[in-house]
Amino acid sequence: MTRAADFTGTPAVPGVAYAPVIWTSPRPELVTGRPRVPEADRDDQKTALRSAAATVAGRIRDRGSAASGVAAEVLTANAALAEDRGWLGAVEKLIATGTPAAEAAAEATDQFTTLFAQMGGLMAERVTDLRDVRDRVIAEFEGRPEPGIPTPSEPSVLCADDLAPADTAGLDADLIVGIATVLGGPTSHTAIIARQLGIPCVVAVRELEGLGAGRFVLLDGEAGALTVDPDPALARARVDAAREESRRSTSWTGPGRTSDGIPVAVLANVQDGAGARAARDTAAEGVGLFRTELCFLDRDFEPSVQEQADIYGEVLEAFAGRKVVIRTLDAGSDKPLRFAHHQDEPNPALGVRGIRIAARNAGILERQLDAIALAAEHVGHRPLVMAPMISTAAEAASFGDAVRAHELVPGVMIEVPAAALQADRLLRHVDFLSVGTNDLTQYTMAADRMSSELASLTDPWQPAVLSLVATAAAAGRRAGKPVGVCGEAAADPVLACVLAGLGITSLSCAGAAVARVGAKLGSVTMGACARAADAALATDSPVAARAAALGALETP
Ligand code: PEP
Ligand code: MG
Repeated sequence: MTRAADFTGTPAVPGVAYAPVIWTSPRPELVTGRPRVPEADRDDQKTALRSAAATVAGRIRDRGSAASGVAAEVLTANAALAEDRGWLGAVEKLIATGTPAAEAAAEATDQFTTLFAQMGGLMAERVTDLRDVRDRVIAEFEGRPEPGIPTPSEPSVLCADDLAPADTAGLDADLIVGIATVLGGPTSHTAIIARQLGIPCVVAVRELEGLGAGRFVLLDGEAGALTVDPDPALARARVDAAREESRRSTSWTGPGRTSDGIPVAVLANVQDGAGARAARDTAAEGVGLFRTELCFLDRDFEPSVQEQADIYGEVLEAFAGRKVVIRTLDAGSDKPLRFAHHQDEPNPALGVRGIRIAARNAGILERQLDAIALAAEHVGHRPLVMAPMISTAAEAASFGDAVRAHELVPGVMIEVPAAALQADRLLRHVDFLSVGTNDLTQYTMAADRMSSELASLTDPWQPAVLSLVATAAAAGRRAGKPVGVCGEAAADPVLACVLAGLGITSLSCAGAAVARVGAKLGSVTMGACARAADAALATDSPVAARAAALGALETP
């Protein structure tokens, strides 16, 4: 008999995991103004701080030896930072004057990070690393759990209030086998990155705080449910069955087409070279969205043109000879980039984000296009380049000119309702459109995509959203230009059929979803997709839209 779930939330990434729970720990708050350390205690504080630093260094080094490639190099370098004589010397000097150890570690770190920033280049990149080491050493010194995402010693389900993209991007899918968060919606970046890594994920889980670390849970990413301490044999059987089902759908080999042979390309969303190489192992026909900003979330300074070109080149190489759509930096809102100099805004999702950062940061777009052109020349493969958050035809025109001047093919994203409504005009200036249903839903429904309370509004099945997708697709048909979807809607096999029925010409989703989407599309005719689209458009709610579409797809 199946037990009712103990915790429920919004399903974000399908799949089943059975493992013990680990929680992220908060970064220590740097409290200042504590009483000075009496002279007699200063040597003890120095010894305790040094021992905390040695423990942290040892822990990071152990992780480094268990990792490989770049991760191993980064961890080894960070271990060395925790034991850096100059830094520890500066901390001890401050303790010797009576500064409490945690405050001394923070102050010495500030001295060093200022110096690193002035030196620029590779040293400047170490600023984030030293701050991370500082937080770990202070937490260890104060006897608190290691901050951030712990590295578990066995496969675990990671629970968190929310995860920053910078945290999620570095997750090891062999160790973090499931994710559950208190906050976030199905299109939050936590969910997007989890999907890209193929980690089953449930977001907006009510009362998740009550789930203690170490408890075994069965996490079902499709049902959006967590069951605590289930029968181990039954839980393992569920995990095996889910694996088997995913193996069956992964037997789909492409290319994307309906059962009556109408092509609808199924592409992959990627975040870097490693993601692209992983996506190449799926049946994805190309890359429909390369989110370039995700490569730079941890950077304090804009990477040089050459460094950017090397990174973009990795993705082009992985899909050489196939379609690759590179998106220019979509910085801002929940994906701030330090080098994009965001100001404090009361409402950043409606603020300077996406293409709008180009106006504030002289040359940032030009340098990124230089880098993409350089990568294209080096690899001998010309990508398509699109801009995020376009709202007007004038923005599309200026972006189109800039991209063509680099001998690249321009397109724009449809994420703002104004852009969908003006799609005909936008298409006068660019060669393709790509609908970002995550933001299009957020802006159409005036509902923050990060809000767990508004999850039923931030649902791309909302008929109003489907109607705007239909408007953009119709404009593409009139102009004879392709219109794809690269938001999370394309990862839902049933919704993917509806989108095809609305006239969408390609679907780009996380590599982990490619086979399921392709297999579903291959099981229905384009006529059935069109009927499903009409049926969904004629409803009043996401639930009714999905039911109507399912009914239409099942009717021969
Ligand atoms: C979207 O908004 O649908 C999209 C693909 O962009 P992102 O999720 O990166 O904002
Ligand atoms: Mg978007």
